[in-house]
Amino acid sequence: MKRVYSFNPGPATLPLEVLKEAQAEFLNFADSGMSIIEISHRSKPYEKVHNQTKADILELMGLGEDYEVLFIQGGASLQFSMIPMNFATEKNPGSYAISGTFSNNAYKEAKILGVGKIAASTESENFRRVPRQDELKIDSDSAYFHVCYNNTIYGTEYHYIPETGNVPLFADMSSDMLSRPIDFKKFSLIYAGVQKNLGPAGVVVVVAKKSLIEKSLETLPTMLRYDTFYKKNSLYNTPPAFSIYMVGKVAAWIKNNGGLEEMAKRNSAKAKILYDVIDESDEFYKGHAEKDSRSFMNVTFRLPSEELEKKFVAEALEKDLSGVKGHRSVGGMRASIYNAMPIEGVEALADFMKSFKKNNC
Ligand SMILES: *Cc1c(COP(=O)(O)O)cnc(C)c1O
Repeated sequence: MKRVYSFNPGPATLPLEVLKEAQAEFLNFADSGMSIIEISHRSKPYEKVHNQTKADILELMGLGEDYEVLFIQGGASLQFSMIPMNFATEKNPGSYAISGTFSNNAYKEAKILGVGKIAASTESENFRRVPRQDELKIDSDSAYFHVCYNNTIYGTEYHYIPETGNVPLFADMSSDMLSRPIDFKKFSLIYAGVQKNLGPAGVVVVVAKKSLIEKSLETLPTMLRYDTFYKKNSLYNTPPAFSIYMVGKVAAWIKNNGGLEEMAKRNSAKAKILYDVIDESDEFYKGHAEKDSRSFMNVTFRLPSEELEKKFVAEALEKDLSGVKGHRSVGGMRASIYNAMPIEGVEALADFMKSFKKNNC
């Protein structure tokens, strides 16, 4: 069996143990004689998976009874619309920090509805960093303040939790949820499209304060309201059972591997290996992110020319290092090194970067 190291941003690499486990029980899940994608979502074996996954996510995040985990389809992109629909009004608009493509997409949805405001933006600096606390202009009548905690495309990440006064803090954590311990209690709503760090595409995990969910706007259609998912335990309609099942396996894997503390240790060690190669390359490799905004999840860098960048991608692939090409809006390279990327994969990429530099400068 041949497996490559996949540095793809999403869908992204998953723990090999998790894939093997899913494979082993695929044809006969929990002695049902059926696979997880063939059994009823109202059956006992499925319900157990569903509820355990919710409980494990809360446990890993250190959150209690006052928070609820919801499983919603439509990707993180639908959350961009659902959030302002449910919680913002013209009088109490949503406030947004623009730190890259996805936070801007989130803001655009609020703007369509006429309920969005910009609290800060680093666009004029080509999103090389996230906004600093002293740059955030959050009006006290804002319904919420929204950040994108890890900017998957630009390779920047918040290293502080924004102070928002009385305004509830919302975060898109699609590409860094469960990658390190954060004081999640400071957030009122967190969401993640799971295909980056938590599972296969098909579901978004939303973790929100129950008291907030209860404020969902009642005039919205059923499937666009958070309280529908809350009241029906995310089983109002057929849930994406396979995606949720895989998220459950990934959450259990994180628990069995030392929890978020251990993930943080591994992730910062992996990121350091790549940033050290960049910093010690005499500017052959140039990091996109400013140092104090550097992401632990997505390492973005450029080479001296586009020609060399093309060559880098091609030669990396020959070494079974896949998916290192950056997003077109930044150019250059991006190595996505989520929880499931083993340190051996990062070491292999670092060795390749060093030898590529030697052979091409
Ligand atoms: C990928 C990504 C999205 C978009 O997710 P979809 O599930 O494809 O809609 C949003 N935010 C962040 C931070 C992402 O990385």
